[in-house]
Amino acid sequence: NLSDKLDKAFHILKGHGKITEINVAETLKEVRRALLDADVNFKIAKDFTTRVKEKALGQDVLTTLQPGQLMVKIVKDELTELMGGEATGINLSGAPTVILMSGLQGSGKTTFSGKLAHYLKTKKNKKPLLVACDIYRPAAINQLHVVGEQIGVEVYSEPENKNPVDIAQKAIQHAKSNGYNVVIVDTAGRLAIDEQMMNEIAQVHQAIKPQETLFVVDAMTGQDAVNTAKAFNDRLDFDGVILTKLDGDTRGGAALTIKSVVNKPIKFIGTGEKMEALDVFYPSRMADRILGMGDVVSLVERAQEQYNEEEARKLQKKIAKNEFGFDDFLAQIQQIKKMGSMKDLVGMIPGAGKAMKDVEIEDDAFKHIEAIIYSMTPKERSKPAIIDMKRKTRIAKGSGRKVEEVNQLLKQFEQMSKMMKMMQGPGGKNLMRMMGG
Ligand code: GDP
Ligand code: MG
Repeated sequence: NLSDKLDKAFHILKGHGKITEINVAETLKEVRRALLDADVNFKIAKDFTTRVKEKALGQDVLTTLQPGQLMVKIVKDELTELMGGEATGINLSGAPTVILMSGLQGSGKTTFSGKLAHYLKTKKNKKPLLVACDIYRPAAINQLHVVGEQIGVEVYSEPENKNPVDIAQKAIQHAKSNGYNVVIVDTAGRLAIDEQMMNEIAQVHQAIKPQETLFVVDAMTGQDAVNTAKAFNDRLDFDGVILTKLDGDTRGGAALTIKSVVNKPIKFIGTGEKMEALDVFYPSRMADRILGMGDVVSLVERAQEQYNEEEARKLQKKIAKNEFGFDDFLAQIQQIKKMGSMKDLVGMIPGAGKAMKDVEIEDDAFKHIEAIIYSMTPKERSKPAIIDMKRKTRIAKGSGRKVEEVNQLLKQFEQMSKMMKMMQGPGGKNLMRMMGG
């Protein structure tokens, strides 16, 4: 699922001391894949990751020790933004306020009509009237009556009348003369977009001129939901979207795409069959849901445990004072091993980053490196400069490696120390940039 995918994405950042172009690109590739899996449209996912990339690289994160958390935040902020930022309320102007429901059959229009009436009655102190304009199935009218009884809201219906425009208009008259201040018009839907249905809802829409035309869509229908939303919006230019059935395990990627495609706010979400199961749509909460935030945050925390800031700072100091020795190097290797990824060694060393990536170190070559270091005396580890030919020969023998390998490690270590030292200094940032960090 999406959360696993994002875990993978953020895993790439795990252990990297800073956000480089490379790890941002790798992470975003995974984020994009995750979004696609959650039914986010391809182009939207692509644009999205492009924007996140710009943001991530634009931030001054060279020194941050928590690039993972920073990425989580950037991705979440951008998702929230994409879904409209703030929650959008419902327009309750008009006397009475007329609200028209649209959407395919089974999307949850009738259920939501009831939920909305209940919400307006109990939370907004309104006196709503429900109107049954689904005239094709007698059961549909009954269903609305059952809902109305449940929540104590009157239902206006004319079982013999086959003209939904007429019913809606009469219902509004009825509301005016009986003190109802909100009229909620439930309509008929089809299983798929069809001209007759579209014509009918367009006629009702034109005749009653609602303050709010709401498009109800089943969140579980994924990409289809987006196509349906587009078709309805082209015809009705609706005011808002209602996303139902979010109590299932759907990740809600449809919310993201619908908002981008029709550019209309999502106003409410349905989270169950009960009349109380209605929530105002909060973009940031949906972003959490899409991201499976809990999992991502715990993942980042785990990464933090393995590599805590305190140690990193100590290490940086050592580097600055030219005290970084083979013992520290060894400790870094152990650290990497704990985290399970050998190749991350480079990124783990603060300030080293990408520059070190060019030093080719094979995974199993670590074994040899460790063996060589273990064969050094403590003094040799902290002051590698004292390692002369005699010592080299002894170390080689002790570790079962060749003298050339000992030489190579010493040379690499020296190069690395120099590089780290330079990066700590005042010119460090420029050097990093030069090296593509
Ligand atoms: P309509 O054809 O658009 O009027 O859809 P209905 O309101 O009749 O809903 C179709 C089915 O979906 C019914 O069985 C509802 O109980 C169910 N339903 C509607 N909204 C939700 C929701 O938010 N969550 C769940 N689990 N079921 C819902
Ligand atoms: Mg219905």
